[in-house]
Amino acid sequence: MEVFGSSGVRGVANEELTPELAMKIAMAAGTVWDADSVAVARDTRTTGRMLTDAAAAGLAAVGASVDRLGVVPTPGAQAHAEREGIPLVTVTASHNPPEYNGIKLAGADGVELSVAALERVESVLLNGEFDRAPWDHVGDERRVDDARREYVRGVVAAVDRDRIADAGLTVALDPGHGAGSLTSPELFRRLGCRVLAVNAQPDGRFPGRDPEPVPENLADLGRLVRSTDADLGIAHDGDADRAIFYDETGEYIEGDATLAALAAAELDEGDVTVSAVNVSQRLVDVADEAGARLELTPIGSTRIVSRVQELRSAGESVPIAGEGNGGVFFPNYRLARDGGYVAARFLGLVADRPASEVVRPVQGYHNVRMNLGYDSEDDREAMLAAAATLAEEADADLDTTDGYRLDYGDAWVLARPSGTEPLVRIYAEATSEDRAETLAGRMRDAMLDAGG
Ligand code: MG
Repeated sequence: MEVFGSSGVRGVANEELTPELAMKIAMAAGTVWDADSVAVARDTRTTGRMLTDAAAAGLAAVGASVDRLGVVPTPGAQAHAEREGIPLVTVTASHNPPEYNGIKLAGADGVELSVAALERVESVLLNGEFDRAPWDHVGDERRVDDARREYVRGVVAAVDRDRIADAGLTVALDPGHGAGSLTSPELFRRLGCRVLAVNAQPDGRFPGRDPEPVPENLADLGRLVRSTDADLGIAHDGDADRAIFYDETGEYIEGDATLAALAAAELDEGDVTVSAVNVSQRLVDVADEAGARLELTPIGSTRIVSRVQELRSAGESVPIAGEGNGGVFFPNYRLARDGGYVAARFLGLVADRPASEVVRPVQGYHNVRMNLGYDSEDDREAMLAAAATLAEEADADLDTTDGYRLDYGDAWVLARPSGTEPLVRIYAEATSEDRAETLAGRMRDAMLDAGG
């Protein structure tokens, strides 16, 4: 796909992702959907209103009436789509820096579009075969004010609220000025938690921190946990479909450890779980232990969703899936990543024992991540060729589902170009930090020599 990458369309707003492109994507999607109504939502970015206005105009032009949801977490917009049985256009760049924006599409079941459906939309977009409505059939619009409220209500109703409330937990929250600023404080209060928050004003300039919930951006949250004696620190990305946690001592919990701990509580024998090629050994071990099968896809939630749908239609039980970046699916609840719901499920575990103990059984691994920028396609190609050469020469099993994953038995390293930014990402995991650093460093040095 040329236009839709691993996470929908992403780019610097008004340079790569222009209002013209947003309008055409909406026209193409509206043409494929042929629906009476389509919902439009956004996160807090400064360019969100401009792009949702363009998308709404494009939908009206192909005859779809528009539900304007305003600022709402992506999972809340997906919940609205499912409730109303209408497709969805969400304007968000998720965890990308403030100058970025993006577009995600979901069907009338609230599930993001499959790769095959995106290819149909892309084909209409590239051919310009829009189904323009005559003047008396263009779409209308209505403002929907309760999408956020309904989202919170839905999450509270879907978890064991009393068990969480009875534990009397204190939550330190960092929604990072994103869409979760408008829902998560209320969500955790309604689950009976005491809530203390930083960066909880919706602000598309993201003055307190960048939207990506990685440790470099979350020092304030760690301090808040320690200074308030909170039981759990919770951080979201810009559209709050992900949740990342800090334990009760103020220590960052790797997203891979969270996923593995949630999976350990969820997986039964004969179940299947789905993750991406940068999967942690933690989830491999948990799936083994439970007698469940683990399937790997290329990186990106679209790929995981498509695979989960295939497995479920083949009659398989897939109670949990996801990636180590805080994006976890509980497909029996909704086939959508949901930062609020995942945090509520994790609070259900923390109600029994401290967060550090919840993840203790899946600790003992060290992860290293590096990003290498490149200036041109030639540099990118040279870097990937260097990774291929290293893979051939290394004493490791090679998996090329997405990038180059070198599996050494006790450790692994993956080099893979980002789908959303001009970066090649390196991931390594080992039972010692030295070994993870060495493997990642060897990959980095090979690629830097080549052109990074
Ligand atoms: Mg996101």
